[in-house]
Amino acid sequence: MEEVVVQRALPLGNWDDLIGHQQERRRLARGGSFASLLFSGPAGLGKRLLAAWYGAYVNCQNPPEGQPWSCDCPNCRLVLKNSHPDVFWMERAPGKMSLGVGEARELIHHLYLRPYQARSRVCIISEAERLTDEAQSALLKTLEEPPDSNLLILVCSQESRLLPTVQSRCRIHRFRPVEDAELMEWLAAKGCPQDSAVRYAGLAQGSPGKAVQLWEQPALWEALEALLDALGELPGSSLGRCLELAAKCETLKVPGLEGRALLEWILHSSQAYFRDVLLIQAGATHIIHRHRQNQLEQLAKKKTRVQDWLEVLRESHEYAEANVNVRLLLQDLFLKLRK
Ligand SMILES: [Zn+2]
Repeated sequence: MEEVVVQRALPLGNWDDLIGHQQERRRLARGGSFASLLFSGPAGLGKRLLAAWYGAYVNCQNPPEGQPWSCDCPNCRLVLKNSHPDVFWMERAPGKMSLGVGEARELIHHLYLRPYQARSRVCIISEAERLTDEAQSALLKTLEEPPDSNLLILVCSQESRLLPTVQSRCRIHRFRPVEDAELMEWLAAKGCPQDSAVRYAGLAQGSPGKAVQLWEQPALWEALEALLDALGELPGSSLGRCLELAAKCETLKVPGLEGRALLEWILHSSQAYFRDVLLIQAGATHIIHRHRQNQLEQLAKKKTRVQDWLEVLRESHEYAEANVNVRLLLQDLFLKLRK
């Protein structure tokens, strides 16, 4: 079996780069009697980073009064640099769609080993919604009463896929999208010009990770602009041109974002784009792609199938989660959006 209990690198330079969720962080810092926590909320809000931050916080040698979310003590640094032996992750193996009962048992075994040095050993279960029902059942007892000094954090973007018996054994922290203003403030502090900050924060839709990627990777914004060009050209295009456009999007390149991660961006950006069309149709002025106003208005005037397109995109998201081949997925998507 592939190793599923792993150390994991954090994409943070320092803890100050962790954005948003102040209220939940304060609630976490106050502590509580539960030894198992469930971090729930849409994907992309930074829940996993917050779980790591909490792993650092509970082991911090000197949690600063009042502002417990940024510290440079040795323990906090170790978690940040992915070398704290007592903060670790359970993740599905590459190419596997779920976390099964075998993996759950491996984790339980790991939890019964003595911690190396920490006051609290923290295990973060990524994508807990991918635990099979059997795996969840196997974890029930451990969630209820983990071995001494262990803290489990389940990170989950689809709470309904967790058994009620799992949910009831955890203290639930629900995370909401981060406000645009907060994302813009962070971007501005990093030196991002105001107009870009507005765009990035808008497109990030409450996801700090997405805002950071847009800022740190200018090629990403360019790739998404090429995508929007293609989407503008798509309705009513010939079959040949449609497949050409799909192929063009498939071959978009952004350093550091491999196929699936970029596909997720393509779907995210397309969805935001068609939502803008809906908003324009509804007479709203606050749209994300303001720099594409004309193109969006043209589409909105056609008053065609925007709801259908959004439905098609939702399906594509599901295909992407089910690991469907990227080329097939994009061809299918573009053929449907063409009509
Ligand atoms: Zn510390």
